[in-house]
Amino acid sequence: MTLTLPERLSRELAGLREQGLLISPRVLETANRARTRVDGRDVVNLASNNYLGFADHPEIKARAAEYLHTWGAGAGAVRTIAGTLTIHEDFERQLAEFKHTGSALVLGSGFTTNQGVLGTLLQPGDLVVSDELNHASIIDGLRLTKATKKIYRHSDPDDLDRVLAENPTDGLKMVVTDGVFSMDGDIAPLGRLIEVARKHGAVTYVDDAHGSGVLGEAGRGTVHHFGFETAEDVIQVGTLSKAWGVVGGYAAGHADLRQLLINRARPYLFSTAHPPAVVGALSAALELVQRDPSFMERLWDNTRFFKAELARLGFDTMGSQTPITPVLFGEPEAAFEASRRLLDEGVFAVGLGFPTVPRGQARIRNIVTAEHTRDDLEHALTAYERVGRALGVIGG
Ligand code: PMP
Repeated sequence: MTLTLPERLSRELAGLREQGLLISPRVLETANRARTRVDGRDVVNLASNNYLGFADHPEIKARAAEYLHTWGAGAGAVRTIAGTLTIHEDFERQLAEFKHTGSALVLGSGFTTNQGVLGTLLQPGDLVVSDELNHASIIDGLRLTKATKKIYRHSDPDDLDRVLAENPTDGLKMVVTDGVFSMDGDIAPLGRLIEVARKHGAVTYVDDAHGSGVLGEAGRGTVHHFGFETAEDVIQVGTLSKAWGVVGGYAAGHADLRQLLINRARPYLFSTAHPPAVVGALSAALELVQRDPSFMERLWDNTRFFKAELARLGFDTMGSQTPITPVLFGEPEAAFEASRRLLDEGVFAVGLGFPTVPRGQARIRNIVTAEHTRDDLEHALTAYERVGRALGVIGG
């Protein structure tokens, strides 16, 4: 008997429920701000990727409204057909200038950018070597290629060296890494990784979703932070949805990269361009971060303060070096229970367990933003102290 759709749905959901993996997202009842409302309660929001507080910034919203009125609600088509407006081209030039790269192209999201760029560049006979903790969108992007795929140990240049040495090829060689890893908040050792890649003639591909707007001068990103921004053997991709506060993905690098992607990347060729309001907001966001360094300063002041205070209370923040601040609980039940109790105390922070993070390393991931006040963070720390003691995660 053919399986019916209701059977498929109920079996899959029951399977997830049995494994304790069934999720339903919490709903925010305000715009995504440092303080938001969840379940009718005002809470400090430590769950967003809104690093600079741009998601609800008045200047950015004003530009979005201006572009909406001037250029319309939608772009009207796939870009190669009739969807490329002046504003799309202008923003990409602005982005390439910001990144100090020869070209830049914007795609629908960070997720589809990894699919589009990896799927376009890597061909049979090529070798791609990927960090074991790379983001799901990189893993999916690599599934689209027929290149030989190998994994190296997390942020381990010596292991990368070994893998590259053991897999010779005359095709293109590519090393793929996140710039900042989204679960632990650690920064990839890009200097050493690029050195090893170059020794083997490989290009380096950096997904800087969590480094753009956070690291490097004016938030130019992890590649800039390590001084490689103009290197032609480095490809930077990332998202426009986190620090930039809006939505979208980009690829920036060699002058010819954009032209090839325009001709080959399927998420570019077969998906409609961003609506004008998105482009307006993004263009204002890029201007704002370069004009006003106080956003990044507040982000890093808050990050240092929050991490130091959590450590003083006795929590394990897992060596994080960035505003992504995990707090280790070990077992998923403990992390989920802590997240529930924090919400009761007016703090919204999400618990993560296997398969999102390794077994035994369930945690709450906190993301500090420029928008949090000292009051917000002190409120969160008081809640953490109470919950941590109640659950026996920190001492007596
Ligand atoms: N890469 C990394 C490292 C990410 O953390 C994310 C966001 N979760 C993405 C890509 C996807 O970006 P977007 O949300 O714009 O699709």
